[in-house]
Amino acid sequence: NHHLLSIDNLSISFRTYRGVLEATHQVSLVVDAGETVGIVGESGCGKSVTAHAVMKLLPGDSAIYSSGHIFWDGRDIRSLDESAMNRLRGRDMAMIFQDPMTALNPVLTIGDQIEEGLRQHHMSRQEARQKALSLLREVGITSPERRLYQYPHELSGGMRQRCLIAMALSCEPRLLFADEPTTALDVTTEAQVLQLLKKLQAEHQMAVVLISHNLGVIAQMCRRVYVMYAGVVVETGRVEDIFDHPAHPYTKGLLASLPDPAHKDKVLTGIAGQAPDLFHMPSGCRFYPRCPRAMRICAHMAPPVYEREIGHTAACWLFCPEREVCHGSH
Ligand code: SF4
Ligand code: MG
Repeated sequence: NHHLLSIDNLSISFRTYRGVLEATHQVSLVVDAGETVGIVGESGCGKSVTAHAVMKLLPGDSAIYSSGHIFWDGRDIRSLDESAMNRLRGRDMAMIFQDPMTALNPVLTIGDQIEEGLRQHHMSRQEARQKALSLLREVGITSPERRLYQYPHELSGGMRQRCLIAMALSCEPRLLFADEPTTALDVTTEAQVLQLLKKLQAEHQMAVVLISHNLGVIAQMCRRVYVMYAGVVVETGRVEDIFDHPAHPYTKGLLASLPDPAHKDKVLTGIAGQAPDLFHMPSGCRFYPRCPRAMRICAHMAPPVYEREIGHTAACWLFCPEREVCHGSH
């Protein structure tokens, strides 16, 4: 009985003109069929890179897979050739992005773009048109007959994102990656799009990996969360674990910077300092320079992953059971 997706100790680096930088370090993550999983963290923490690695969309000339494995349905995807991978991307996995405008072709109508994908699945023109209409209806686009003939710039940002979701659904994926899908939208539209994703997830029984810098967005949608910082997974657990008993100081910082609708006068504290430059990674814990709880050991040694409860882990020396070893000297 295996996971739909299982990422095991994945480290990815990029060759750049400044040298090699490590974008993810020993990332492990699983997604079960039909499950909603969130990945949260600041920009550049490796969350998009992880998703792109699964879909093999990283630039082949600069990305280096330095360690780890990615299993899809029990098969190591690194053993798949390009045509097998294309089938996987077309049928099993799909992705939507923050900016639907860049993912849509500005010179093709919405209808043509949706139908283009469908016709790759050997549908006639007539069938493709009918299917496109039903997909647009399904994602809540009003007067779909008219929308088919419109161009992306004639639609609002929210409608463009709905169109991209329709295109992603057209292959009936088993897993949808949604990478900051609502970041470019206003708050009302954001809530509607999240609601739509939730509905589609349930109706299609597909797994969704929602990537966001906003823990509030993740909480609305996901069952489990992975918190990433500077290329590593620092905490993982169910949404309740993360909100009710956050363990890692970085997660606590993320929570403290979330607005609380019940306490509008709450002072948002945020996290002092900046994420490390990936070229100059701290040698011990990557959060050490910003951590309010840092101890001496944190500067020299990367913390191991400790299990707090079943399914709730944190990579932080604070949870070392041999307290005198880790907490001995400040
Ligand atoms: Fe802070 Fe140390 Fe924990 Fe890192 S290992 S988060 S520096 S207490
Ligand atoms: Mg990103």
